[in-house]
Amino acid sequence: RELVVDLGARSYPIRIGPGLLTTVGEHLRERGVGPERTLFVVTDEHVGPLHLERVRRALEGAGYRVAHVTVPAGERAKSLAVYARVIEAMIRAELDRKSVVLALGGGVVGDLAGFAAATFMRGVDYVQLPTTILAHDSSVGGKTGINHPLGKNLIGAFHQPLLVLYDTDTLKTLPPREVRSGLAEVVKHAAIGERAFFDWLLAQVDAVAAGDADALGEALYRGCRVKAQVVARDERETSLRAILNFGHTVGHALEALDGYAGLTHGEAVAIGMVAAAALSERLGVAVEPVAEPIRALLERFGLPTQVPARFDPARVLEAMRRDKKRQDGKLVMVLLAAIGQPVVVRDVPEAAVRAVLEDCRQQGD
Ligand code: NAD
Ligand code: ZN
Repeated sequence: RELVVDLGARSYPIRIGPGLLTTVGEHLRERGVGPERTLFVVTDEHVGPLHLERVRRALEGAGYRVAHVTVPAGERAKSLAVYARVIEAMIRAELDRKSVVLALGGGVVGDLAGFAAATFMRGVDYVQLPTTILAHDSSVGGKTGINHPLGKNLIGAFHQPLLVLYDTDTLKTLPPREVRSGLAEVVKHAAIGERAFFDWLLAQVDAVAAGDADALGEALYRGCRVKAQVVARDERETSLRAILNFGHTVGHALEALDGYAGLTHGEAVAIGMVAAAALSERLGVAVEPVAEPIRALLERFGLPTQVPARFDPARVLEAMRRDKKRQDGKLVMVLLAAIGQPVVVRDVPEAAVRAVLEDCRQQGD
């Protein structure tokens, strides 16, 4: 499966399917990367042992010189310290302006390696080789970056890749909790994308959840297509791209209150989408039921749909107020007029948010 992110001279293909990493060299050649250019693979300590050898063999077989660096797994790799280590490894590998960075891993490696590529010698080319389901989202669109101790993704750059090569065979080694987390973003793309995608996902939910290669490949293709279309129309998030934050205002608040160590990103976004959908109904923005269909779909993927009892709605609201996407002190949220019809609401009444958080909260404690 192939689609194109249409950005004029910076357009690039997204290719999705099993076994693509074994021919990565040919894909690079076809994108204009000659064998005289050194390749530098960035991967992490989980993905490296599982998939790096295959990539290296394919690239060396195609005549490239290949160097690599392995970073720690998980969000802590998106730090200034690890970024400095990646740059040091790039210098030691004697890369130059013509070298190409390959990000082999999930969203963490993609964001980190992409940012290293955006800044090394004022910018070198890079390629995304996503290995998580969540990375169908993060590998498309050119947002790269790392975290600062004072906040997530505060340091970054827009830098579009040359190519996204998504080998769905790598997903076979992904832990089940990471699979579910990534599927939350697929549901997000279906909910903001189009009704037909949402209905298709509902019909295919068991095959997708079971990791059926064809159904999962199709789900990722459709998810990437929604993201690619939004990015093509608003590359730098001046307006439309904001709809990609559906479920993320509440989701980010929950993650922050957990110190990024409790719920996974996808779990937090799943709960956030149900809350945003319920809010859409409460405020009369929705012209049809939206919360129940989304809740039902998430539940079938094994994702949480209620705010865990440990979160006090008042504290969630406080964390939402601190979100960097607030504008002029107003609460901005993505709501749904219908499935497939997102609307950005710029002055969401806090009392309604609070009521919805109470409604969506799990009993107990
Ligand atoms: P991740 O990269 O940390 O991967 C999750 C875990 O799975 C890690 O432990 C990783 O080592 C492991 N893993 C990855 N692939 C594997 C495989 N095939 N087999 C076995 N283990 C594997 O996390 P993620 O969920 O992919 O991405 C989250 C990051 O993405 C966050 O930092 C977030 O900010 C970022 N993000 C960026 C964008 C963007 O537009 N740039 C969008 C959404 C999210
Ligand atoms: Zn997300």
